[in-house]
Amino acid sequence: MKTMPINGATRLYAIVGMPVTHSLSPVMQNAAFRSTGINGAYVPVPSEDIEKTVQGLRALGFGGASVTIPHKETVMACVDRLDPVAREIGAVNTLAFEQHPDTGEVVCVGYNTDWMGSNLALAKEIELKGSSALVLGAGGAAKAVAFGLLEAGASKVFLANRTLQKAVALAEELGSDFVSLADIDQVDADILINTTSVGMTPHIDNSLVPKEYLSRYAVVMDIVYAPLETRLLKEAKASGCRTVDGLAMLYYQGLAQFKIWTGVEPPVSVMRDALLQELERRQ
Ligand code: NAP
Repeated sequence: MKTMPINGATRLYAIVGMPVTHSLSPVMQNAAFRSTGINGAYVPVPSEDIEKTVQGLRALGFGGASVTIPHKETVMACVDRLDPVAREIGAVNTLAFEQHPDTGEVVCVGYNTDWMGSNLALAKEIELKGSSALVLGAGGAAKAVAFGLLEAGASKVFLANRTLQKAVALAEELGSDFVSLADIDQVDADILINTTSVGMTPHIDNSLVPKEYLSRYAVVMDIVYAPLETRLLKEAKASGCRTVDGLAMLYYQGLAQFKIWTGVEPPVSVMRDALLQELERRQ
C-alpha cells in the first residue's frame, strides 16, 4: 500500500472521545488521504475534557476532528459556529477548523454527518419517504437517525428508550412519537433501528427486541458495528428482514466528513475496502 510521508506540511485530523483506541475511523480516513494524495493524517486522541481538547486541536493547527462518545452534545458549547443542521439535531460529530479567507482567523465549525450516514445506509434497502420507523435509543446517535428519517420524509417515527423521559423529550423536540420499551410490541413500522450500545462487544448476547417481534419489519438496522452482525441482526435475518449493519452508517458519515475537511470527493471504494480489511484483520 502507498504510504504518505509525514512532514512539516502534513495537516492533522483527529477522532476525539473516550474510548477511541478501537475506532475504525483512522483506517478509513488515512486510506482516503493516501489514495487522494492529500498530505493529511488522522489520529485517535483520547479526550476526557472536550473543551481543553478543542483548544488543544486549534492551538496545534489541526484541520478537523470526528467527535464521538461522550462528547457529541457537550462539544456544541466549544465551537465558534454551528452548522444549522447540527444545531437542529442537537449533536455534533464533526469539527472543522476553517480559516477565514480575508482575516486568516481560524474558526471552529461544528457539523453533523451521522444523519447522512444513517439515511444513505438505509436508503440502499428501503425508500425512506413515506416509511415508518421505530428507533431504539434517545442519545446523540438516535437524534441524528430520527432527524434523518424525518428529513427524508418518513411518515412516522417512534422513539423508545430505557429512560423513557429522554424519548419523550426528544420526540417533542423532533415532532415525532414515543413508546415505552415495554410496549414496542404495539408498534407497527417498516423499519427498526437500534441506536443504543446494547449488543456491543463484550455483551454480544444482548438485544432489546424479542425475536418474535422482528418479522413485522421490512428492514432492521443496528448501528453497533462491533460485532458487525449483532444478535439483533442475526435474529432479524432469520426472521426474513433485510438488514443493515453499523459499518454502513460509519462509512457513509465518514465520506461526508472527508468532503467537509478537504473539499475533495471521497474515494468511496478505497474507504470501504480499508474498513472491511481492518475488520477482517481484527477478527
Ligand atoms: P449516547 O448518547 O451515550 O446514548 C446511548 C443510548 O443507549 C441511550 O439511549 C441509552 O439509554 C442507551 N443504552 C445504553 N445502555 C443501555 C442498556 N443497557 N439498555 C438499554 N439502553 C441502553 O451514545 P450515542 O452517541 O447515541 O451512541 C450509541 C451507540 O451507537 C454506540 O454504541 C456508538 O458506538 C454507536 N454509534 C455508531 C455509529 C456508526 O456510524 N455506526 C455512529 C454513532 C454512534 P439511556 O438514555 O436510558 O441511558
